[in-house]
Amino acid sequence: MNQTFRPRIAASACPHDCPSTCALEVEVFGGRKIGRVRGAEDNAYTAGVICAKVARYAERVHHPDRLTQPLRRVGGKGSGQFTPISWDDALDIVAGEFVRAEQAHGSEAVWPYYYAGTMGFVMRDGINRLRHAKKYSGFFSTICVNPAWTGFIAGTGKLAGSDPREMAKSDLVVIWGTNAVNTQINVMTHATRARKERAAKLVVVDVYMNSTMQQADLPVLIRPGTDGALACAVMHCLFRDGKADWDYLDRYTDAPRELAEHLRTRDPAWAARITGCPIETIEAFARLVGERKRAYFRLGYGFSRSRNGAANMHAASCIAAVTGAWLNEGGGAFHHNDAIFHLDKTVIEGKDVRDPQIRMLDQSRIGAILTGDKAALRGGPPVTALLIQNTNPLSVAPDQETVKRGFARDDLFVCVHEQFMTDTAQVADVILPATMFVEHDDFYLAGGSQYILLGPKLIEPAGECRSNHEVICALAQRLGAEHPGFTMTPRQLIDRTLQDSGWGTLAALEANRWIDCQPDFATAHYLNGFGYADGKFRFKPQWPEVPFGRAHGTIEAAMPQLPDHWDVIEEADVEHPFRLATSPSRGFLNSTFTETPTSLAKERRPEVMIHPDDAAPLAVATGDLVALGNRRGTVRLHARLFEGVRRGVLIAESVWPNKAYADGRGINTLTGADAIAPFGGAAFHDNKVWLRKAA
Ligand code: SF4
Repeated sequence: MNQTFRPRIAASACPHDCPSTCALEVEVFGGRKIGRVRGAEDNAYTAGVICAKVARYAERVHHPDRLTQPLRRVGGKGSGQFTPISWDDALDIVAGEFVRAEQAHGSEAVWPYYYAGTMGFVMRDGINRLRHAKKYSGFFSTICVNPAWTGFIAGTGKLAGSDPREMAKSDLVVIWGTNAVNTQINVMTHATRARKERAAKLVVVDVYMNSTMQQADLPVLIRPGTDGALACAVMHCLFRDGKADWDYLDRYTDAPRELAEHLRTRDPAWAARITGCPIETIEAFARLVGERKRAYFRLGYGFSRSRNGAANMHAASCIAAVTGAWLNEGGGAFHHNDAIFHLDKTVIEGKDVRDPQIRMLDQSRIGAILTGDKAALRGGPPVTALLIQNTNPLSVAPDQETVKRGFARDDLFVCVHEQFMTDTAQVADVILPATMFVEHDDFYLAGGSQYILLGPKLIEPAGECRSNHEVICALAQRLGAEHPGFTMTPRQLIDRTLQDSGWGTLAALEANRWIDCQPDFATAHYLNGFGYADGKFRFKPQWPEVPFGRAHGTIEAAMPQLPDHWDVIEEADVEHPFRLATSPSRGFLNSTFTETPTSLAKERRPEVMIHPDDAAPLAVATGDLVALGNRRGTVRLHARLFEGVRRGVLIAESVWPNKAYADGRGINTLTGADAIAPFGGAAFHDNKVWLRKAA
């Protein structure tokens, strides 16, 4: 009997939108059930540690509310009234609607819309194969990485940096713009090791005293969108105090003397006025950076959420070049390792049949696109049919009221392939039940470290759930779309992509569980030159020419020539005296995990943190229902008084489902969808709002 219930331990990888992409060990009971999930001890980055929400993943896989059969809407749009149908009927309806849309307006009227609900390449990116084969509208992903990636690449010339495991060998770890305790716990593993083994100092820069900042030796609390000013003041001090490494600057950087001259006026007093951070804290930060050559700057996605985010990321990344920290093991800067993997996804994405004339539509502008904004539609036809996989735009996209208006259109057909009844599934015409990562084969890349990992199918799908790949191939067959990828299995696609990319075979990956793609020290630290043709780090980037591979058009803006505070954020004004950031919660990951009991119990309810001195004149106390508003809409949620924010700053940890708010309006009612320079993005932490006690 005991033999029967003893689980086997299977290797896997976390599929979620988290830079760590942990190597997992999953308890598997028979062919249908998983138990505990643990981090692989022998993976040098995961090092046996994973977050609590994935450790209890069985809650998600075996959740009673999972979607397990195809559904067709029978009530009005958004009524939540659906009836079960067969897979054949569901796929026939979807294919029929796509054909109808194409016949009425051309192929670009169909928009396959997806994102990072799974980061597996087969299941996430296969939708592009259908899009290319059918010439459907293209999808320009902007909602997350663009400003941050562009800002980092602006300096280094490519998206890669010092080995993240080197944090453990640092004398100073600077965690800037990422609440790692909430969003990528493994950063803390390596930072903590440095503190224990080397007495390293930990500096955390963020916009509230979050779980990560609470562990810092030096917390640097700034107003949202003012990182550029802080970075400039730190560099001012380094030049002023003789801590700049001029040998390094002359050899490896483009305009060091111009930078030093430019920074003369950007002193800590100037930065204190902008950031709200005391002069003494800025001086202390600069002293640590100047004294500790092994300084590792771990720069996160917080930068991406401001209108000046690219400039801020670039400014922060410049500090390591001023001190020459790149020369040392345990020194340098890191954001993401995208450039080291050189994956060739032609067969998965059907890039070989892509028509470059087909328009690319901006993911973050979905509200404007669905409500017929001509510029957002790029002068083309309306979108009248959507296929949505791995994302929940009605909850996570900015400018939510406009998004809702778009989805309410009677002439819009929406198919949502999902795991749960999300806000977006609620407004679908057809819902298809989707597998989870342990129910299908896929492979993953750990951009926050350096691994390619396999996540094999471990158990049978729940109910009638089908994988993204199965759905895409079934639709392709009905729509007459042709590409070899439609007849390959996920395992064949993985094997082919690995081989096309020069990373061996699936069999080898399966045997070894992961591939360590870390380049050698000199390459990772740019000792042979940075990514530009002249090998120089750019203090003075040509913004429109930054080699950001995902660019699909440049947003015109007078970006700063040298690191600076770029004053384009949504500043508070008389009518909107607060600035709101919608920071990530610990229990959720975007809108995922908002259904698991332990996450819900931990997060309790949507709240907004407000400084007690701001709350007092408004007669607001912890637990009061308050309304936040701006020209985009109004949201009601509960207040929590919190001293760990600057005056005038509000923090609402997210992303809760819309129904969790008093009026069914989610936090993204307040966020803007205007595109961020230079290559798009969404400014989720950059919102001016008013706050009132609600009735
Ligand atoms: S820390 Fe990130 S990658 Fe690791 S298990 Fe949690 S969500 Fe997944």
